[in-house]
Amino acid sequence: MWLLMSSSADHDCVVIGAGAAGIAAARALTRAGRKVCVIEARERIGGRAFTQEVAGQPLDLGCGWLHSADRNVLVPLALESGFELNRETPPWQKSAEDKGFSREDQRAYRTEMGRFFTRVEEEAQKGIDVPVSRLLDPQARWTPLIEAMSTYVNGTETDRLSLIDFDAYEDTEVNYRVTAGYGALIHSLASGLDIRLGVQAQRIDHGASPIRIETQRGTITARAVIVTVPTSIMAAGLLRFSPALPDHVEAASLLPLGVADKLFLALEGAEEFDIDSRIYGATDRVATANYHIRPFGRPLIEAYFGGRCARELEVGGLAAFADFAIQQLVDVMGSDFRRRLRPLVASQWARDPFALGSYSHALPGHADKRAKLAAPVGRLLFAGEAVSPHFFSTAHGAWESGEKAAADALALL
Ligand SMILES: Cc1cc2nc3c(=O)[nH]c(=O)nc-3n(C[C@H](O)[C@H](O)[C@H](O)COP(=O)(O)OP(=O)(O)OC[C@H]3O[C@@H](n4cnc5c(N)ncnc54)[C@H](O)[C@@H]3O)c2cc1C
Repeated sequence: MWLLMSSSADHDCVVIGAGAAGIAAARALTRAGRKVCVIEARERIGGRAFTQEVAGQPLDLGCGWLHSADRNVLVPLALESGFELNRETPPWQKSAEDKGFSREDQRAYRTEMGRFFTRVEEEAQKGIDVPVSRLLDPQARWTPLIEAMSTYVNGTETDRLSLIDFDAYEDTEVNYRVTAGYGALIHSLASGLDIRLGVQAQRIDHGASPIRIETQRGTITARAVIVTVPTSIMAAGLLRFSPALPDHVEAASLLPLGVADKLFLALEGAEEFDIDSRIYGATDRVATANYHIRPFGRPLIEAYFGGRCARELEVGGLAAFADFAIQQLVDVMGSDFRRRLRPLVASQWARDPFALGSYSHALPGHADKRAKLAAPVGRLLFAGEAVSPHFFSTAHGAWESGEKAAADALALL
């Protein structure tokens, strides 16, 4: 077996995890002429960037939007690699269908949302890290919908969301998409790298020189290691360190992954709707999904679920997501709508053993933990979306963090 044959420091650097961060790190190190290999627990590349071909359509079950596209490092890389980008206005920046949500109510909601973000900014400037829920009046008309928005954006309701961290995210409000899929883009950027699939790191002995990485397929050694596994994996003790790293593991557990999931439904007679339009499932509760109609003009509905609602539906898998979504759509569109819908696929990120969630958020009082998690320990470095100071929870934030860890590793080597 190849791993057992490895002797000391057979690599300059081993990267743990072949998601956006790991691929970015490995590319930078390879470009610098270093001997680097990536070990990946799954049998595929990309991690939470995953495009699945379903019914002839490339569907993104993980990341889909190149957020802050005017500052997104993956935009030029996508264009250089020949990927077509879609620059149409995203549905959340336009009015939604008025069925079940009148234009007047939409305006009132947008005004309240604007006020909410102003409050977030003002309160964050005071520097006291409270739960974001403190800024919401539980009785106010639009609070449930603002909460629902939080479950999509942060993967969590606002009672578990750090105000300072939420405010630290930089959104330039320019959003593009990759027509062939964001996951397909990340996959293609890994081309030519030495990536070993189906190899799960279990323990990293960083007290030794070279560093020893124990996997279920034997031990591999390296002069430097970049860890990119999701925080949930470290917090659950699924990757252990020797000597132990209590500060890093604690930081990881205070930056848990929230839950966001997607369900794709085939839609008959889709042309009735505008491309990239949107339907709200309900406007009076937190446990509701959001429905993106005809993404890329395709005959589909992309339903987005977040927070506790997504976590609960995951238990029942595709059938549970589909029942919930179809009932909401029928409530809004009328009972005839049911026969026009066919469930295709749904994600289950919280039940995915190598993700255990969707994207990270800081718990109230712990906005400082991203920097703590990012701190290197000797030649052991940390990357991944959760360490990004301003683009956390995104693929481009993960990518930047991988490039930074690679630069740090090169300086150390
Ligand atoms: C539903 C959903 C929608 C999203 N939408 C967007 C969006 O529109 N735009 C955006 O920018 N971002 C979005 N994101 C977030 C984005 O996908 C992630 O932030 C990003 O892909 C994380 O990259 P990463 O490299 O940090 O982690 P990962 O992609 O999770 O990579 C870590 C890798 O480590 C592997 N691993 C785990 N444990 C081990 C182990 N013990 N040994 C070896 N390998 C291991 C995993 O299998 C994984 O491949 C979305 C995510 C989800 C789930």
